Amino acid sequence: MSFHALDLEPRLLKGVEALGYTSPTPIQREAIPHIMRGSDVVGCAQTGTGKTAAFVLPTLHRIPPRGGLKALVVTPTRELALQIGEVTRDAARFTGHRFVVIHGGVGYEPQLQKLRKGVDVVVATPGRLLDLHNRGAIDLSGIEVLVLDEADRMLDMGFWPDVRRIINLLPAKRQNLLFSATMSSDVLRIVQSTLHEPVRVETSPTATPVENIHQAIYPVNQMQKSDLLVALMKREGLDRVLVFTRTKHRADRVHRILERSGISAAAIHGDRSQAQRQRALDSFKAGKTRVLVATDVVARGIDVDEITHVINYDMPNSPDDYVHRIGRTARAGASGSALSFLAYEENAQLQDIERKIGTTIACEDLEGFDYKDRIVPSADRAVPTKTRAVFSSGVMGRRGGRGRIGRR
Ligand code: AMP
Repeated sequence: MSFHALDLEPRLLKGVEALGYTSPTPIQREAIPHIMRGSDVVGCAQTGTGKTAAFVLPTLHRIPPRGGLKALVVTPTRELALQIGEVTRDAARFTGHRFVVIHGGVGYEPQLQKLRKGVDVVVATPGRLLDLHNRGAIDLSGIEVLVLDEADRMLDMGFWPDVRRIINLLPAKRQNLLFSATMSSDVLRIVQSTLHEPVRVETSPTATPVENIHQAIYPVNQMQKSDLLVALMKREGLDRVLVFTRTKHRADRVHRILERSGISAAAIHGDRSQAQRQRALDSFKAGKTRVLVATDVVARGIDVDEITHVINYDMPNSPDDYVHRIGRTARAGASGSALSFLAYEENAQLQDIERKIGTTIACEDLEGFDYKDRIVPSADRAVPTKTRAVFSSGVMGRRGGRGRIGRR
């Protein structure tokens, strides 16, 4: 199927060509016609599925260029906002739509200037958007299309009160689009309170990135994690590696250890300035640094092709984070590996993950590495009982133990 079959406005199709897309991804195929028709849409899709263009293209199709601010995209992180901005820029190259990306951590003036000149689309993180509204710099009374991107992450990050304040500033009659990688009961509550008879679209479970990814557990003593990482990095094929740690402090530490071992690395996390994060990302994208060390909070914004390996230096606290993390590799149909260092005190997290993905993950060893005191999960362990189908149409509450996942 080609994009032409979607009946998008011809100048948008030229933009799609400029983006280099030839055929729509499944989420685009499903979502775009509904959005073009004006329906509210709930999209269950992870990053890497093409969800950004799935809402950007039909939104631009629906609003006139240079017609005043009519579309608002709210997203949790600066990196995501910038990426949505990039897709908007390319898609709008031939239509004349104007947009601004609004996020904190940078000066106000460039954003104010663009707003003064007039925009059709605002892509924003919640805090700075409210800030600018409070200063009287932005008028949201003409919004016709609202996109809530990565709703689950906005909830996890505590942004929901801000998002609700923003929604209260919008006209009641509008189109609402909500995208979320997971549909927890909290997200469903938002859908019910915010959207009007939404059409639900989702990437089929078989298309989830997890399926193309070689996953393995590396059981290792907590004290040996850094040695194991350095030893692994000496192997071939680990060309572009994303390492996840539990805390910012640990990200900085791993970064230092890698650099000291002569492995080019950079770290990004919430304490880094916007400029520092962008520099680190650019250098990783350009292949100048081999390893990017990150925490979960910034993970969503990392849209880098050809990541060969995701390494979970620390097991994630929630199974959703696991799926998000490993989804950074094997993008757009490529294959990739996700290796998880498992200290014995992280076994509960592993069980939660295996319950979520519905299978056990095989253990692997790095040959020649001198493992000390460690506990290896038994090879014939059963998959922990599945308490819910992740994508089934039934009840999708988060049964199965947040409490245990959240332990430290
Ligand atoms: P997203 O899920 O929006 O973060 O997109 C993931 C990646 O897929 C980005 O690098 C996009 O540029 C790319 N992409 C999105 N739609 C298409 C398409 N129809 N064909 C090829 N690549 C695409």
